[in-house]
Amino acid sequence: MPLNYTITMTFLKLGLPKPLVEALADEGYQTPYPIQVAAIPPILKKKNILGIAKTGSGKTASFVLPTLVNLQKSNAPKNREPQVLVVVPTRELAIQVGGVFQLFSKALPNYIKTVTVYGGVSINPQMIGMNGVQVLIATPGRLLDLVDSKAVHLSAVETLILDEADKMLNLGFKEEMNRILSLVPKQRQNLLFSATLSPALEGLQRILMSNPIVINLSIEEKVAVDLIEQSSYLVTDERKGPLLRYLTQSNAYAQILVFTSSGYKADNVADKLRKNGIKASSIHGKKSQSARKKALEAFKEGNIKVLVATDLLSRGIDIAFLPCVINYELPRSPKDYVHRIGRTGRAESSGVAISFVSPDQLAHFKIILKKNKLWMELIDSSVLDLHGY
Ligand code: AMP
Repeated sequence: MPLNYTITMTFLKLGLPKPLVEALADEGYQTPYPIQVAAIPPILKKKNILGIAKTGSGKTASFVLPTLVNLQKSNAPKNREPQVLVVVPTRELAIQVGGVFQLFSKALPNYIKTVTVYGGVSINPQMIGMNGVQVLIATPGRLLDLVDSKAVHLSAVETLILDEADKMLNLGFKEEMNRILSLVPKQRQNLLFSATLSPALEGLQRILMSNPIVINLSIEEKVAVDLIEQSSYLVTDERKGPLLRYLTQSNAYAQILVFTSSGYKADNVADKLRKNGIKASSIHGKKSQSARKKALEAFKEGNIKVLVATDLLSRGIDIAFLPCVINYELPRSPKDYVHRIGRTGRAESSGVAISFVSPDQLAHFKIILKKNKLWMELIDSSVLDLHGY
């Protein structure tokens, strides 16, 4: 039964208001890019974000659009006190980001004054321009010149955005950044964007914020999805256990990593496998560090055939080659699907990824496939005789 894609992510579904969505369509932005899907909803909720994405990914709109929407609801600005501060490494990027802010702010009912400043040009007009500024886009050096001449104050900044932060560090702006950080209020939203994730950048992130939502597009690029043979079964919840045991006992795969969406379910699935004489263990966040380590080692050494895990631990499972991954329950996000199946099919060896799709999860599964630009046949498991499993 081939799947047909009728579900498309839209800017409206991400929570942007209709006039803005219409302005986006006028500019040729019909469908949100992955970074926009991942970043817009949490930014609207005033969460902190660490986004690892290159130019060309659509990262600018991913922070400009929700920031503009949030500004519609904020208090009236005080003079020379921007509410949103965007720090960028170069004049070119400042102009580009400023242009996107200006373009889309026109679509919203409340006027938002956006000002872009950078070095290499006369400072006087920029000083005058600080009157009534709400969004200030600046390169670090010129921003501090304006602060030192008291043309602008950073004490009302509610959202701090650092774009191409890796480039800022590479260009030697670390001291300037530290000073800027000392001038903005401690209580604020932080959005940190970088093309790469280096130790220096992680250091900057720790100074800025703890526990940000991490959106890492560079990981997905590395997963060799093409090498993985993917298939899916339409299966009711009651028949998932028998189907798993059927696949496990078919002996096609030496070892299997199974994903569930909760620790409780992981234990439950592993228990049932053991009761059926299959060596299995589970690992999840509620297990002690030593129990997790023990289970993982037993799996690595080949002493257990099936390891059942939750997403939380999927990134920590570093196994050279895994022949088969089974999604007993579907991951919440399309990104997690790639993380999970990326456990198999590394380098030149190919692996198998099988997803169990219950009828009520079919729509969600279609979104996962569409977001990851995947297509696969959905096998109707009711044709399988699972008696005895
Ligand atoms: P950026 O990575 O922010 O530099 O954006 C790369 C380019 O993609 C820019 O020219 C944007 O105008 C364009 N762009 C960003 N998001 C979308 C979208 N959802 N649909 C079409 N074009 C987009």
